[in-house]
Amino acid sequence: MDLYEHQARELFADHGILVPRAEVTDSSQEARVIARRLGGRVVVKAQVKTGGRGKAGGVKLAADPAAAELTARQILGMDIKGHTVGKVMLAEPVDIEAEFYVSYVLDRAAGRFLAIASAEGGMEIEEVAATRPEAVARVPVDPAEGVTSAKAAEIAEAAGLPPATVDVLVRLWEVLLREDAVLVEVNPLVRTAQGQILALDGKVTLDDNARFRQTRWGAEAAEHGDQLEAAAAAKGLNYVKLDGEVGIIGNGAGLVMSTLDVVAGCGARPANFLDIGGGASAQIMADGLSVILSDPAVKSVFVNVFGGITACDAVADGIVQALDTVRLTKPLVVRLDGNNAARGRAILDGRRHPLVQQVTTMDGAARRAAQLADAG
Ligand code: GDP
Ligand code: MN
Repeated sequence: MDLYEHQARELFADHGILVPRAEVTDSSQEARVIARRLGGRVVVKAQVKTGGRGKAGGVKLAADPAAAELTARQILGMDIKGHTVGKVMLAEPVDIEAEFYVSYVLDRAAGRFLAIASAEGGMEIEEVAATRPEAVARVPVDPAEGVTSAKAAEIAEAAGLPPATVDVLVRLWEVLLREDAVLVEVNPLVRTAQGQILALDGKVTLDDNARFRQTRWGAEAAEHGDQLEAAAAAKGLNYVKLDGEVGIIGNGAGLVMSTLDVVAGCGARPANFLDIGGGASAQIMADGLSVILSDPAVKSVFVNVFGGITACDAVADGIVQALDTVRLTKPLVVRLDGNNAARGRAILDGRRHPLVQQVTTMDGAARRAAQLADAG
């Protein structure tokens, strides 16, 4: 679960990290009032759960309250990488002398955390890492030891950050630990002309497994940045939006994961992850299909089912019933294998849907779905 910038900065402030004074609103008239309260000149910032807002025109300086209202009106409702701006944050502008990048991220593969830091903050860190990898320091953090002052000093030194950032690095670790986060990122962390170290932007991802004890953000934080994911969540589907064009439905998380790999291996890109679990309900199949088909990027759909306790004929029945309620607009490639595969295939053949075709192997079906996506 990602937090909005204004929520992240609240956590930072709670743990003693300095942040500029700021307030949030969904109204441009109120933006004017807030700007007046903050001293007139403000930075108006789109609140969306995606980075690169600055480049997209979602972060703008306003010289006075009237300009703040105008700017807020421009930014509210704006689309930034598929996220509609519902709120803006107005922040006291800061005299920036230097911009740094600092983050802690869970490194699942290594079973540790990783501190990533750079004296070249402000721009997207991926860009810095690609063009000047030596400017980005990566320091492993043992979760049991955490970030002590000594560890923070090691991170600061590795990245070439001034000693004044050491205290912030320790506090940022406290944020991660106490708030059950798997990612905390500050970009930019700035040094002001007055020598203060301030967090000017913040990204925090909370660990969903700890949601039961992190009730603070309630419904707003649980809001999905992505509309398809929101629709899927409302239907109780285990769906994750990806960037490709082949829609994927499978039964069992492991099978779906390998389906994504096989589709990618065919040179296509999966449009989503969707695990419909062990059942064969027509409702779940219909819900899954309708979410996937409402994704404009999808060019073909690959249903990959291995019949186990739930046999293929039951799954085929579910697909056939789903085809009665969902209008299929893209070609559907189905691979049924395992328990009662022959009976399942016969049921689906009997439906004679012009957009449905079956391929008996996973590789073959993935290849077909990839071809159809390429042609579509
Ligand atoms: P992002 O583009 O989504 O990462 O949004 P940021 O909050 O990081 O803002 C983008 C850039 O705007 C920052 O890197 C800063 O250079 C600049 N910026 C943001 N807030 C302020 C501010 O208060 N004063 C000044 N001078 N620049 C700011
Ligand atoms: Mn930023």
